[in-house]
Amino acid sequence: MIPPQPLPRQPSARQAPPWQHALRDAFSRPAELLDYLELDPALPQLAAALARDFPLRVPRGFAARMRKGDPDDPLFRQIWPHADEAATVDGFGLDAVGDLSKVRPGGIIHKYHGRVLVMATGACAINCRYCFRRHFPYGEHLAARDHWRRTLDEIAADPDIREVILSGGDPLSLSDERLRELVDGLQDIAHVRRLRLHTRQPIVLPERVDERLLAWIDGGRLQSVVVVHANHPNELDTPVQTALLELRARGVTLLNQSVLLRGINDDTGILARLSERLSECGVLPYYVHLLDRVQGTAHFEVDGARAAELMRQLVARLPGYLVPRLVREQAGAQSKTWIAW
Ligand SMILES: *Cc1c(COP(=O)(O)O)cnc(C)c1O
Ligand code: SF4
Repeated sequence: MIPPQPLPRQPSARQAPPWQHALRDAFSRPAELLDYLELDPALPQLAAALARDFPLRVPRGFAARMRKGDPDDPLFRQIWPHADEAATVDGFGLDAVGDLSKVRPGGIIHKYHGRVLVMATGACAINCRYCFRRHFPYGEHLAARDHWRRTLDEIAADPDIREVILSGGDPLSLSDERLRELVDGLQDIAHVRRLRLHTRQPIVLPERVDERLLAWIDGGRLQSVVVVHANHPNELDTPVQTALLELRARGVTLLNQSVLLRGINDDTGILARLSERLSECGVLPYYVHLLDRVQGTAHFEVDGARAAELMRQLVARLPGYLVPRLVREQAGAQSKTWIAW
């Protein structure tokens, strides 16, 4: 007979949950990461001065999914500050999707009908080199704690808002206490029906999906939707699968968005494996984005013709529900732009 296991100790209010330790322990020194991955210490990298505003940042659990000794590993390439980032390329600017002109008080961006995006925090567990918000001046726009009131007032004043999307940064960088505060406020606004989180944390830091998070995410009247962000099937290991299935078990609708990235997932076989692995994790593919043309990311771009070709091959391989929609974000458009292929 198996002896009963002692119950895990409940963390006291003061004690930081384990995911916050994992967050702090992330790799931030390039030399340390290269050493861990058994890579050449002289691997070309972005000059430290240029990387200062958007430094290397990788949770150890995510680094553990990379192949040792392979500088072309698709997970490594997503986070390595490559020397190519220093190139200035025509058409790649600082505010590619026109967000700056749209931010309202309370950190709200209201571009599309019926749904608003709240910039809850600028922090992320990982720094993805292709990130479209890597130059975003978060400090000026966040819905920081003191401003939840402002955020809630803005949402309460517009009865057309049916869905509130928490974004950032990664909203799950905030503590559960702060998130619950916001969610409690949203519950009191009758016209708000859905709460959506755009987060990469269940993928890069699956420890984040703990009992405290599960307690508020399915706790109330709002329908919960979590849109995660994985680009390659190797990101979805067993701890990630467990975390996602726990969210699913609480009734959360799970979707995934990816970015099409040259040398990482611009391949039909990889995209098909990603969709099938997502399905095993209880997640449906939602969007595959063409790269937003942000300074420092040009070396990741896959052109529209190649993207269309990949989609034609993908649809010939997978059931329709595992084929994501190819989209691009265009400044001034009324929705993401669906790309015909
Ligand atoms: C992408 C985005 C959304 C969500 O768009 P969906 O097509 O509903 O996923 C909402 N607001 C803003 C500002 C966005 O950039
Ligand atoms: S997790 Fe998302 S917001 Fe954060 S760096 Fe990566 S792509 Fe950007």
